[in-house]
Amino acid sequence: MASQITSAYEIRFSALKNGFHYYDYALDNAFFAQFPESLITQAKVNVRLCLERKTREMVLDFVFSGAIHGTCDRCLTDVEHPVEGDARLLVKIEDEPAENTDQIWYVSTTSWSFQLAEYLYESASLLLPLRFVCRGGKQSACDERLSSWMSTATPAVSHAPEVDEQTDPRWEKLKQIKYN
Ligand SMILES: [Zn+2]
Repeated sequence: MASQITSAYEIRFSALKNGFHYYDYALDNAFFAQFPESLITQAKVNVRLCLERKTREMVLDFVFSGAIHGTCDRCLTDVEHPVEGDARLLVKIEDEPAENTDQIWYVSTTSWSFQLAEYLYESASLLLPLRFVCRGGKQSACDERLSSWMSTATPAVSHAPEVDEQTDPRWEKLKQIKYN
């Protein structure tokens, strides 16, 4: 990951007073490009983070909203898929941090920051639909494109010279070549 990405999503909690702190992130194409395995390439997902700093822990509430782009499974048109979701992460500050889980992270009392880029990437990836299809009012546009594609594709096949496999002697010859 590039260093500017790393620093932009770093929470320097040692400097935070107890109470609520707010952060806004915009996960865009450049953000997802930092993750080579990302299935998301075009997106604009806004994240609002409300972080409650307590003495020995932090409660992080995330709200995601925006859109992820993909290709319609049926007509290959670019589709904008609206997404929204939320997530909560608990970060405990301990002398001897335990192993992180999906929902609870542990940081050492001697550390002063933690990194959210990977967490934001994974949370946004969960919002990715299983498949993209034209939705709502665009559904008819999808069907229209699909049927116009079919009508241009089908004649090419039906206009091909028809060969009767049963009687055409050339076909019999070909079969002999093939199987002898
Ligand atoms: Zn479509």
